[in-house]
Amino acid sequence: MNYRYLFEGIETPVKLKNGSLQIPVNFDNGATTPPLKSVVKEIMENALIYGPIARGAGQKGDLCTKKYEESREKILDFFNLKQSNTHTVIYTKNTTESLNLLSNVLIKNKHEKVLTTRMEHHANDLPWRNTATVEYVDVDKLGRININDIEAKLIANKGKIKYVSIAGASNVTGYINPIHDIAKICHRHDAKIIVDAAQLIAHKKIDMRGQNHLKGIDFLVFSGHKAYAPFGSGAIVGLTEELSNINPFLRGGGCVDTVYDYDIIWDTPSELHEAGTSNFLGVMAMVRALENLQQVGFEEIYSHEMEVKNYLIKNMKKIEGLKIYGDIENVEDRLGVITFNVEKIPFDELAHIFADEFGIALRNGKFCAHPYVNRLLGLSDLDAHCADEKLESFGMVRLSLGLYNTIEEANLFILALKYIVEKY
Ligand code: PMP
Repeated sequence: MNYRYLFEGIETPVKLKNGSLQIPVNFDNGATTPPLKSVVKEIMENALIYGPIARGAGQKGDLCTKKYEESREKILDFFNLKQSNTHTVIYTKNTTESLNLLSNVLIKNKHEKVLTTRMEHHANDLPWRNTATVEYVDVDKLGRININDIEAKLIANKGKIKYVSIAGASNVTGYINPIHDIAKICHRHDAKIIVDAAQLIAHKKIDMRGQNHLKGIDFLVFSGHKAYAPFGSGAIVGLTEELSNINPFLRGGGCVDTVYDYDIIWDTPSELHEAGTSNFLGVMAMVRALENLQQVGFEEIYSHEMEVKNYLIKNMKKIEGLKIYGDIENVEDRLGVITFNVEKIPFDELAHIFADEFGIALRNGKFCAHPYVNRLLGLSDLDAHCADEKLESFGMVRLSLGLYNTIEEANLFILALKYIVEKY
């Protein structure tokens, strides 16, 4: 399948180091994604009616407020939650803000325990370190999580772990975690599951109710900009009951019912957790992006991206002097995210060669997942500390696919990679 028709601007040429113009290959969709055509149109149309949400009585404001509130229903529908009446949609800036919000409002004191993993992006690690006592499930040699280790931690902590917060998919290896099976384990031990869906949202259908409620997802967080909407909007879809009758993270206009000189009567969710002026255009863009992906069909998107990923791994495996991280034999549980290094070429230089000489955009570094990347590199925490003190830098190069990437682009990448490995 070719999904390039859904986008505008991805064919705009870029200038290479030698001065020639080339249509770029964007293999950095794990960082952020270009907006869909439908999303750009949605923003333009809504800009014309733009007005304040839930404030004042102007016609534009009323219309925007109606659309904004209706969009929550669309989000619930998207995750198969429309009938269940159990979850609330809270709009945020992105996944990072969503997780900071949850870690602040759900955790009452630092002694409360949260279980997460060593696979996480910092956004799903540092906020919990700040407000709770964090337990970690480690990864195996190939970088996977074993769900039995999650259950073992829950049992060992004798019901003290209230929340298990885990990536739906890794931003470093693309491993897809079995969130419904993990949900079942959590529920068996009276814990709730929080899924960081930043890397999953644009690639695979997420049914928050699961095949049955036991396997349902309690909280899910994501960012619109990783799903073909522009930066600035994200969401929490979470259990209304848990998000009610608690103090909000952000305080200001819109989150209260009444304020007295020395007393505050808080509003209910969603408003309770959305202080400040709402990002109307951002939310409209994000919801349109999700609708558009649904129209295209997640099964089709997933199988197309898997085809390109499998093709890339199959061909990369044949290249000598290349180190690919994670499992490259059994790749069915990996999204289109491939991290690698080329012997004798520093990772940052490697990414720049791809960009400057071939117009191929990749990401390099430790991808805001330092503990996970260290493990994949075979560095202990102490090794990593020592290396940092000696100003030695370690990292990898990451290729991450979007639905508009093609086998032709994969071929260009393989050719460039072979050339680099031979030339340097
Ligand atoms: N979690 C994961 C798995 C991610 O990949 C990212 C972004 N790289 C985030 C969280 C944070 O997302 P954002 O920067 O949009 O807040």
